[in-house]
Amino acid sequence: MRPPCGGVWRLEANARPAREVLSVGADPTLEEAHVAHRNKVVIVGGGFAGLYCAQGLRRSPVDVTLIDRRNFHLFQPLLYQVATGALSAANIAAPLRGVLGRQRNAVVLLGEVSDIDPAARAVVLADGDRVPFDTLVVAAGATHHYFGHDADWEPIAPGLKTVEDATEIRRKLLSAFERAERAPPEARKRLLTFVVVGGGPTGVEMAGSVRELARHTLRRDFRFFDPADARVVVVESQPRVLAGFHEDLSRKAAAALDRLGIEVINDSRVTAVAPDHVVVTAKPDGSTRRIDTETVIWAAGVKASPLLSRLAARLGVEADSSGHLSVAADCTVSGHPWLFVIGDCATFRGEDGKPLPGVAPVAMQQGRYVADAIDRRARALPPPGAFRYRDKGSMATVSRSQAVVDLGWVRFGGKPAWLTWLFVHILYLARFENRVLVLVQWAWNYVSRNRAARLITGELTSVSTDARHDARRTDRTCQTADGALPAENADGEAQAGATSGRPGATG
Ligand SMILES: Cc1cc2nc3c(=O)[nH]c(=O)nc-3n(C[C@H](O)[C@H](O)[C@H](O)COP(=O)(O)OP(=O)(O)OC[C@H]3O[C@@H](n4cnc5c(N)ncnc54)[C@H](O)[C@@H]3O)c2cc1C
Repeated sequence: MRPPCGGVWRLEANARPAREVLSVGADPTLEEAHVAHRNKVVIVGGGFAGLYCAQGLRRSPVDVTLIDRRNFHLFQPLLYQVATGALSAANIAAPLRGVLGRQRNAVVLLGEVSDIDPAARAVVLADGDRVPFDTLVVAAGATHHYFGHDADWEPIAPGLKTVEDATEIRRKLLSAFERAERAPPEARKRLLTFVVVGGGPTGVEMAGSVRELARHTLRRDFRFFDPADARVVVVESQPRVLAGFHEDLSRKAAAALDRLGIEVINDSRVTAVAPDHVVVTAKPDGSTRRIDTETVIWAAGVKASPLLSRLAARLGVEADSSGHLSVAADCTVSGHPWLFVIGDCATFRGEDGKPLPGVAPVAMQQGRYVADAIDRRARALPPPGAFRYRDKGSMATVSRSQAVVDLGWVRFGGKPAWLTWLFVHILYLARFENRVLVLVQWAWNYVSRNRAARLITGELTSVSTDARHDARRTDRTCQTADGALPAENADGEAQAGATSGRPGATG
């Protein structure tokens, strides 16, 4: 539906009327007059933060408009299962219209917010439409951070943030095995080497899944090589994997990775990414090594959605080096009480002065808190106290039946940790419609080690069986992404290999 005039949405006219409005009767003038003084709350982003905020406002005397560039809410913690063919995308996504369908004071708009006009109190969509607001909640999440190498590294080393990312990674992984079936030995070795940049929770779970895919799921699928020979390498810039966790748990995770046959290179950064290799530079002595590979998965860092820098410029405030906006104790931007910024795109400092981690429970709790704050304003009640994050613990999964859990008062690993991880993730999914399907599929995958969703979609990467192809590629050895030869013993400026902004999957 197009805006009635001048590209400006009159949301009070388009919104499904709230219960109070219906009681006014059918007179449209009266209805508009009544609705006009209800607070118009616009929420940008239907991720954990935005969706929990919208749902928290279901009984509030406000009109809620949720805008997202996707028409679904995505359960990102299970994206790696899509990337490795264990689940299909529909299993971990829920249509926003379905989730908010019964919420009478909420409208969902599909659109990309490209700008915000603070003076006119309107958000601007990419197609030029404007949506007015009284209160704005920005919950636009985060995106990958290639530390200044976005243009050259991103196309080669996809990160894992969206459904498109997951299907692209799945395509690359499965294509590599397919191409290995008719490749000469050198090329096959390169095709069967998989590099995961970043040894945080996302990197560790990706590496574990890739190894399991190779070792179990695909074990009978190929005739000219043994998929179990696939090499999986994790590059981590910190001295240990899962650096955000207690050392005991890092050690347990490292032992589990070792048992799976995954090679971990700690204290090192990826300083060059090319279509057929990466260069890894050791932090202590600057020595470099080249790893031939055509499949690099980026799990090394995140930055706030680009919308935040635009917003910061409009407000004349500074975003931090990763584009996050700092917020006050009530999740508003100082001096702008109409603007809340929550979830992965905000920097909220806890009582210890450290920024809260970019994890789902922070986003959900902030979403609920902001809903309460807006509701109180609408009812002229005193504001709630400062936002306080209730940290219920952290967890990370390594492989089928291996995980680590830190609940603060107890830390454990192995199968009990994996069952805890499974239970918590199913509980989260339970808010949405997919839980039974996912549970059944998981149970089946667990018993059979099957990954039924291992489809290659998109364009097939060409299969070269020509040995000369290898020689040509070898000529381009050790070029940095800028095309220069990396200096021996030089430490790269890129943070590649750093743990992602997610210290742990939190329970
Ligand atoms: C692979 C992966 C695994 C993870 N695993 C875990 C885990 O196990 N446990 C855990 O606690 N956390 C995990 N996280 C982190 C967790 O998913 C995030 O902290 C959480 O999703 C943040 O919620 P959010 O609402 O701030 O952002 P998001 O969930 O990213 O939502 C942002 C929304 O904004 C929309 N959007 C962005 N820009 C615009 C725009 N300009 N216009 C319109 N819409 C826009 C997006 O489409 C998206 O729907 C994981 C993250 C990833 C990527």
